[in-house]
Formats: sequence, structure tokens, C-alpha cells
Amino acid sequence: MDESCSVVKDGAVAINGNKILEVGTSHEILSKYVSVNVIKGEGKIVLPGLINTHTHAAMVYFRGIADDLPLSEWLNNHIWPAENRWLGPEFISDAVELACLEMLKGGVTTYNDMYFFEDAAGEASKKIGMRAVLGSGILDFPSVSAKSADEYLDNAERFVNNWKGDELITPCIAPHALYTCSPETLRKSKEKADELNVPLHIHLSETEWEVGEIVKEYKMRPVEHLENLGFLDKNVVAAHCVWVEDNEIRLLARRGVGVSHCMESNLKLASGFAPVAAMLAEGVRVSFGTDGAASNNDLNILSEMSTTAKVHKALSRNPTVLDAKTVVLMATRWGADVLGLGNKVGSIEKGKIADIIMVNLNKPHLTPLYNVYSHIVYAAMASDVETVMVNGKVVVDGRKLLTADESEIIYKARTWREKIGIK
Ligand SMILES: [Zn+2]
Repeated sequence: MDESCSVVKDGAVAINGNKILEVGTSHEILSKYVSVNVIKGEGKIVLPGLINTHTHAAMVYFRGIADDLPLSEWLNNHIWPAENRWLGPEFISDAVELACLEMLKGGVTTYNDMYFFEDAAGEASKKIGMRAVLGSGILDFPSVSAKSADEYLDNAERFVNNWKGDELITPCIAPHALYTCSPETLRKSKEKADELNVPLHIHLSETEWEVGEIVKEYKMRPVEHLENLGFLDKNVVAAHCVWVEDNEIRLLARRGVGVSHCMESNLKLASGFAPVAAMLAEGVRVSFGTDGAASNNDLNILSEMSTTAKVHKALSRNPTVLDAKTVVLMATRWGADVLGLGNKVGSIEKGKIADIIMVNLNKPHLTPLYNVYSHIVYAAMASDVETVMVNGKVVVDGRKLLTADESEIIYKARTWREKIGIK
């Protein structure tokens, strides 16, 4: 996934510490380097780790708690009450371990989170060995984590200062959405992000209802409202962008805003279809997010890729849009770029950090092989991911997590489910 999307047949990657030294044919690499650690790649596709640019990782513990409902009813009557009842550092820590396990085993090496008690999420992600951009959530109304917008902002600042400079964790600031944050809160969030030099992560134009509320209140569409507040720039990761009109798409492109497209969550909540083909045509930076597991209901980027490619072809009655190579770029190099990590990860190139996955081709549904991009997008499944390396360290080998006990992670999740009950 370098600039020219080169594919090396019978390739090899030399890694020292966490850095990629060189990429070439196995003949070139083996004649130049010697290592006691050689990971065999025969019959496998080696590609950059996949990047999930919008999720609420700890929501895996609310997977399947309420489905088949409108967004407002789902949020107000099910998700927010459950969060207020159960969220706390211990819940977040245990749930994030499960989320990391699920994502790593599906080839995701980096995720972009927005939630609460993010210090606990940072500790859990580091323990499992996953890269993350973690956003401390900001709202105008009280929840278990803070009482006022200013308290959320103070928490966010403390969180950023705790984690800045960490090898795996990039802290960020995450005002929830335009309908849950006042213009003042949004402005303060943006000022804080600029001052601390960290990304901003926000939900934007997810539903038609939200657009109606913003237009009613501010006489402007959501993207224009943010533009008016001076909020938009290349540090912003905007999740969803389902209901954006042409002038808003041009604004997103002009300001360099990164978009996280959450196809399966939008489908399940019947939010609508983000105009991804139009965004790409305008030069908007678009990547993939799963959203939380309560609305998806998994954290599977390979499945997002396949669904997205097909839905947008059908929507535009044009099978040439979102071709396989574009979709893989969105899930790797462009995803890294959207998160501000483009100089570190997202491709397998000399000098980059080794976040690499290996997909086992020795499967009936991946045989025969003509085109690697085609297989990754249209045929591969999460369960085909065999080996996962993050920051130069193998964290999944032969589909087994090496950094923690998988059965304990699953056991803890089941124990929490008993506590949470069936309501
Ligand atoms: Zn979300």
C-alpha cells in the first residue's frame, strides 16, 4: 500500500525493533539480512494492519442488548441508561480487552475510539498490544463520567497530558456531536485540541433528524455550522457524514477533514447512505469505521470493506465505483492518514512502523488467486487473518493472542453479562 500500491510476489519484509528496514523479494531480503526470528509467509498475503477510524470499543459489552430500533429510542431508552448504570474504569478495562481481541483477530491493528474513562481504555489497549487513538468524550449534559461540559473538558485535558508521547496510544478530544454539544462546547474543544496539538473526533450528520435539529436551531446545515465555528481542519475525524449535501462535501474536502464511513452501523440503524462515491470524487479523505458493537454488531473491518464496496455500486448503479484497490487504501493508508498517523503506519514501506497482518490463502474461498485486492475485499473473512504484528511485536500468531489469556477475556465478558442482566 505504498504510493504506487506495489505488489511484491514472493516478497519479504525485514524488520528491526519496531521499524521496517526494507521490503523486497524474499531472495533480496534473505541475501542481505539474517534473523533468528523468521515468520514464514508461504501461501499468505502480507499487508498493513487494517484501521478502524470510528468506534466505541467498550460497547462490545452491550453487543446485542437492544436491536431493531430507531436511533433515538435505541440511544435514549437502552444505550444511555445502560451506560449510566454500568460504565466505570473496571468495565471499560475489561470490555476494551475483548474489543482489542476481536479487532486484532480480524486484522485491525489501530482503532480510533470515543468514549469515557479512556485512561482505562489506554491501559487495556497497551496490555493487549494494540495501537489506538483514544478520545475522551465531551457532552453538555451530565453522565457517570462528568457533570458539566467544563468537567468533561478538564477530564479530556488531563487524559491528553497523561498519554501524550506514548508509543501506542494517541490521545484525542472527542466532542460527541452537534446535537449534544453547544457551539461554546465545540469551540472550547477545538481550542483545547489546537493548544494540545491532538486530533478531534466527532459524530457528524449521522441522521436526517440531526440535520433537521441543527438547521432549526442555527439556520445552517451541520457542516456549515462547524465551518462557521472554525472547527474544521485536517485534525478532525468526522464519523458518518451520511446527510451531507454537495456544498458540504466540498467544504469537507477543502478543509481536509477525515471522514469515517460506518456503513454497517448506518444500514442497521437505517440512518441512510453516506455519499462516499461523491466524497471520493471531490477528494474527501474517507476511511472505515465500525462504530460501536451495539449498533453493528461486530468490529470487523473486512466485512465493512466488502459491504461498502457492494452497496455503493448498487446505489450508484455503477460497478466501477469503490473498486477493490480504493477500498483497501481506505482501510489502510488512508485510514492512517485520517488519524494523523500516516507517517508511521498504513503501508509496508521502509522507515514505517511494523503494523502488519498475514492472511492465510490456503482456504477454499480464497482459491485460486488472480488479484490480491479482489480477495481482500470480496472474499476474505476475519477468520483468515493468521498473524498480527503491532509496533514490531507479534501479538497474534496462528490465530492465538500472545499478550493475554483469551479464555479469561471471554470469561470476564460473560461474567459482566450476568451482572448486567437481560433488561
Ligand atoms: Zn459512534
